Amino acid sequence: MLDELTGIYNRRGFYRFTEKLLREYPGEKFCLIYWNIRKFKVINELFGREAGDKILVRLAESIKKEFGGGLGTYGRLERDNFICCVPKSVVEARQWMKLGDIFYFRDNTEYRFFSCYGLYRVEDRSMGIENMVDRARLAMESVRDDYVEPCAWYDESMWDSLFQEQKTNSEFQSAIEKNQFKVFYQPICRAEDGRVISAEALVRWEQPGKGLVSPGSFIPLFERNGFISVLDRYVWNEVCRMLRERMDKGQRTVPVSINVSRVEFRSGHLSEDIYEVVKKHGIPTNMIKIEITETAYSDDPKQVMEAALKLQEYGFVVLMDDFGSGYSSLNTLKDLPMDVLKIDMKFMEDFENNQKATIILEAVIRMAKWMKLSVVAEGVETRTEWDYLKSVNCDQVQGFFFHKPMPEKEFETLLDKIEEAPAEREVSPEVDEEMLDVFFQSNSQVSDMFYNMLGGMGILEMAGDQLEIIRVNKGFYEVLGREASSQEEGLRSMNLQIADPQEKALWLENCRISREKGCVQQIQVNHQRLDGSYVWLNVKLRYMGRRGSRALFYFTVENIQEKKQEEQEKYLISYSRAMMKVFDKVYRMDYSTGMAHVIHTDGGDDMEVGDSYYFPDFFSRHRADITFLEGSEAADLVRNKDKLDAALQASRNGTFHVSYDVNRADLGVSHVEALFLKVELESGREEYLVCIKRTEKK
Ligand code: C2E
Ligand code: MG
Ligand code: MG
Repeated sequence: MLDELTGIYNRRGFYRFTEKLLREYPGEKFCLIYWNIRKFKVINELFGREAGDKILVRLAESIKKEFGGGLGTYGRLERDNFICCVPKSVVEARQWMKLGDIFYFRDNTEYRFFSCYGLYRVEDRSMGIENMVDRARLAMESVRDDYVEPCAWYDESMWDSLFQEQKTNSEFQSAIEKNQFKVFYQPICRAEDGRVISAEALVRWEQPGKGLVSPGSFIPLFERNGFISVLDRYVWNEVCRMLRERMDKGQRTVPVSINVSRVEFRSGHLSEDIYEVVKKHGIPTNMIKIEITETAYSDDPKQVMEAALKLQEYGFVVLMDDFGSGYSSLNTLKDLPMDVLKIDMKFMEDFENNQKATIILEAVIRMAKWMKLSVVAEGVETRTEWDYLKSVNCDQVQGFFFHKPMPEKEFETLLDKIEEAPAEREVSPEVDEEMLDVFFQSNSQVSDMFYNMLGGMGILEMAGDQLEIIRVNKGFYEVLGREASSQEEGLRSMNLQIADPQEKALWLENCRISREKGCVQQIQVNHQRLDGSYVWLNVKLRYMGRRGSRALFYFTVENIQEKKQEEQEKYLISYSRAMMKVFDKVYRMDYSTGMAHVIHTDGGDDMEVGDSYYFPDFFSRHRADITFLEGSEAADLVRNKDKLDAALQASRNGTFHVSYDVNRADLGVSHVEALFLKVELESGREEYLVCIKRTEKK
């Protein structure tokens, strides 16, 4: 009856005692408040389960405080869902509205989380508590994604739409069997001349008595209950069947795009599933294109990327659909395996009266060209829009101005009529010089925009074995940890060479691979800055095209110094683990601070890993009690890094050995072997270690 974590009622307890409450106070007007902490999952992910639990306990306590004394019941249903049943007057006083505001302090930062509430007036007491709670929950769900309005009262239409939803769900199976889902085709045209070069498959539901129902009204629903994967497979099969029939009859075909729902990526075998279907019908994979919506990428980048890569390997063309629904997405663009960018209609809607939309649109198209992506604009409805898109080098267009989505038969008639299905135009291999200027002008709006969105990037020129960075943006300097000396000089900087020969070899090799295969190459380089110091960078580069006899590449950089250091620390720890088998204690000596940090101890005394000692008096502290057996000069040596270095170098195996006896307080004698050595890390950093082995003599 009680919730183990918070000590207030659990679901069963709440039902039981609320029923009792309603029985005992037949004249009182009661209401339910159902609430849920927004983004509670994030709390668990960011701060750990324990922190999440603490927050739940705290919330339960404040609920207890608020309602505990008065008439009413309250409880935790499950996870972050709380409920209470209190008199209407209490709800109207709105005291409770702040209960679900959660302030959480961590690392000197205050994090705020808010709740959303659903309210339900208890009228018909015969319906049972469970149904009342459901209604309060429905009210809560209606504001779950509404960040302005935190609470809502239940009204009957919420129940109706739920009922509708369930009805739709129950009709799905028979709709599939009765072929009520129809695949429509919307032609996609070449921007240059408006010729049909491919098409997109869009599903419709022909419901008896309702006519054609558009996907917007049932796809979200099917995404929630999983039917979407059945529906999508139905669509893929239909598309392949149509193509196969035409191929068998020797009729003209064009590649067809299919849409995949974002929830499909969770299965982990989406690409194989599509391939199976396409193979089954004997359709070449280059006849099918896969549209993945932009939000799928942001939902679960890893899964989507893996699937997209596999699809490309199978030979499918991968499109990013609805691109531009959010600006942040440009940021991820450079990492994604895809071939075509499909620009959201929103850009078109703003087109006529929004100057900024056109600047962005133009910049996006230029950027896409750089990345060797072709660009499709959807939602083209007017001649003006088409003319404009042509002028900014958009490759393909789709929209009502050209063709509306049409039934299969009509689409086939159209295919029969078009004369020659022209091949899709290749993206030009020449580099557009003017573009370089637009992107890297110190005070152009476009350059600012790309700086903000993409971080550090630049252009690299390769001629034979010569490599030169010829353009960088502001973000590049930021990544390298310095300011451009002057804006103008900074962005056009000619004196950025790749000086370190090892680093240069790595760049060269990967530039060549990228040029050959046309792929993005990713490398981690230890980059030498102008001042000689090094920084670890993650670099992605891609061949852009030729400029005379030279090859141009664009690249992006990301500073991974910290990540690299952490990695190395971990490496060092695993390395020293081996030593731990042999030694009782291992210290890392930090000459910049004079501190020796314990990285391993056998636990024979009160020393702990993480403790630090001032090491220049390593021996002198107990000097009176020490008898050196070997290497008595060690006492002086370890104080001074240069001396130790010299000794290490002079030794045969790069280690320096000291042994001595220590007279213990208990009058016994310990024999100690101390081994000094230097570990050189990949970053160029050096670590000095002392490893100690003790044996008790008496
Ligand atoms: P989408 O993939 O972005 O498809 C483009 C939508 O824009 C289509 O809506 C199309 O009819 C509409 N459209 C095309 N040109 C114009 C125009 O000039 N003006 C305007 N205002 N609209 C235009 P539709 O068919 O209602 O499809 C909506 C969404 O439903 C699609 O967006 C797609 O995400 C999804 N969808 C459609 N069919 C399927 C399917 O078989 N499977 C999955 N998973 N999703 C589908
Ligand atoms: Mg689409
Ligand atoms: Mg779209």
